[in-house]
Amino acid sequence: MVKVTNLSFSYGLGLVFDDVSFIVGKNQKVGMVGPNGSGKSTLFKLLQGAEEVLDGEIEVVGSLGMVPQEVKHDPEMEGKNVKEYLDPTNQYEDFELRRMLSGLELSNLDLNSATKNLSGGQKTKLALARALLSKPDILLLDEPTNFMDIEGKKFVMNFLSQYEKTLLLVSHDLMLMDKAIDKVLYINHQTKKIDEYKGNYTKFVELKKEKDELTKRKIMAEQKHIQRMEEGLKKLWKHSSGKGVRQRVVLQRRIERAKEALPELPQEVRRI
Ligand code: ADP
Repeated sequence: MVKVTNLSFSYGLGLVFDDVSFIVGKNQKVGMVGPNGSGKSTLFKLLQGAEEVLDGEIEVVGSLGMVPQEVKHDPEMEGKNVKEYLDPTNQYEDFELRRMLSGLELSNLDLNSATKNLSGGQKTKLALARALLSKPDILLLDEPTNFMDIEGKKFVMNFLSQYEKTLLLVSHDLMLMDKAIDKVLYINHQTKKIDEYKGNYTKFVELKKEKDELTKRKIMAEQKHIQRMEEGLKKLWKHSSGKGVRQRVVLQRRIERAKEALPELPQEVRRI
């Protein structure tokens, strides 16, 4: 279980989370979604304890495993061969290890080969294989399929769909495990909050689209309103009487306030 309560976090002056609370229950599968720079990696670091929580509380019950987007160097890998690294407690048969390697498009690796000469992509996949085999109570994965073709992607997403423990996953391939997802946590870059969408990934996509449509319509209506007020202001410039000047000031203020209150369109909608 993961419980985050009233968490606020910033790097210096750059606020990433503002009073965020959410719970991920035992064995739930959660898709983490948010535009680049919204704080997905930061949240994982906070859950892992790699960044200090100064404001709010994070409770993690159970063992935690994490694979970052790219593994350049893993001290656990040093000096070990593939088998020693993958299965440090020797709980798997060789064929099971080979099956995992093959699923992750690493079938060319020999269990006895050294890990030190592997490429970055191979190291990342190997770290993923190790995490999947070690089955922590809570697994945090950041784009685990980055280095994979479609077959590898399907293998990973299928494996994760059947993972009988808690999973928090950042991925462009969430659709591949749509049915298994219990909820999506969307990191809202504007508000610095985390919005919770219960249900599978398709449901999230639908609800998010509706929400964005609504925001877009609200913005357009408000912009029209501002435009009308600005036209009114232009007309008032013709009146130099005391009353005209006062009306101008009042309207000017109203326009400024309306512009400030204009909701922002989510980054990803703006791009489209
Ligand atoms: P995401 O994983 O969603 O792309 P990150 O968690 O990497 O987002 O980053 C969230 C914000 O925090 C970004 O604005 C990023 O520039 C900033 N950031 C990330 N790491 C650091 C750091 N070590 N020091 C300062 N700012 C950081």
